[in-house]
Amino acid sequence: MLDKENIFDGIHVIDGGLATEVEALGGKIDGALWSAEALEREPEKVAAVHRAYLEAGAQCLATASYQVSRMGYIEVGRTAAEADAALLKSVRVARAVVREFPQKRVLVAASLGPYGAALHNGAEYTGAYDCSYAELVRFHRERIEVLANATGDDSPDLLAFETFPSFEEARAVGEALADWPQIPAWFSFSCRDDKHIAHGEPVREVAAAVARFPQTIAIGVNCVPARFLSSLIAELKAGSDKPVLVYPNSGEGWDAERRCWTGETQATDFGAQAKEWFQQGAQIVGGCCRIRPAHIRAVAAAEKQFVVQSSQCSLHESSVKIAANKTGLA
Ligand SMILES: [Zn+2]
Repeated sequence: MLDKENIFDGIHVIDGGLATEVEALGGKIDGALWSAEALEREPEKVAAVHRAYLEAGAQCLATASYQVSRMGYIEVGRTAAEADAALLKSVRVARAVVREFPQKRVLVAASLGPYGAALHNGAEYTGAYDCSYAELVRFHRERIEVLANATGDDSPDLLAFETFPSFEEARAVGEALADWPQIPAWFSFSCRDDKHIAHGEPVREVAAAVARFPQTIAIGVNCVPARFLSSLIAELKAGSDKPVLVYPNSGEGWDAERRCWTGETQATDFGAQAKEWFQQGAQIVGGCCRIRPAHIRAVAAAEKQFVVQSSQCSLHESSVKIAANKTGLA
């Protein structure tokens, strides 16, 4: 994996939703293993989605491993070895696509969902688990160990702990990571409102605590509706000085019983919204469920505009300073 220092230099745009995009290509993601199912049977569809995001301007890909875990695999009659192999394959598939873009600097982030994502009962969005803290640590440590020992094309650039509902689970990951202080990791949380993560802890306090892990390179929120983001960015910035990462969903709801999306998308004019998030202090912006390559293209354009404007701004500031120096004010 890469050195933690400067890993995000020049990286501001991450990818969008993976599973929904694989489905849009006709891939099957409705099995218990979700996008990992496609990874196994139709890796070319996963690769096509990665490719579409790089073409749209993404500089970081999250692998198709969100729901891969030994526990989840064993529960559906598969083996721990198959789960480990799927983790590594997800990295390999992403790396192969990155190689098609030799002129671009792209990070491969191993997507690691919460314990609840392996339960298949919606608990991932509440963090209300029926398991001990020690079990949580073990669940995460198994996956971390596989990725930490990976080499070559199987090795990700960083670990992306995402859609985490509770501080307790982030703390368990911090403990599970203890043997690998050099591994870069980002922590991203799902939220119940514009100030609290899904389980109820204040975002600001969670960010402050997670920033203390030696592995933490960015802290953020994902799979939240865009309307919460202005406040969430301010809370994240108040909690720590780590780069702020946001990748919202479209604001639609998932009806688990009827297995369909409900409500209206709030991801209209996503580029204008992304520009505001950059202005408010988000360093890295992308999308989660139902955010598609066209949205990421708009984020990449917004980021370019933002960079141009802020460099004009700092040019302006320095010429003001020079003028002030000349008149003896500074
Ligand atoms: Zn999502």
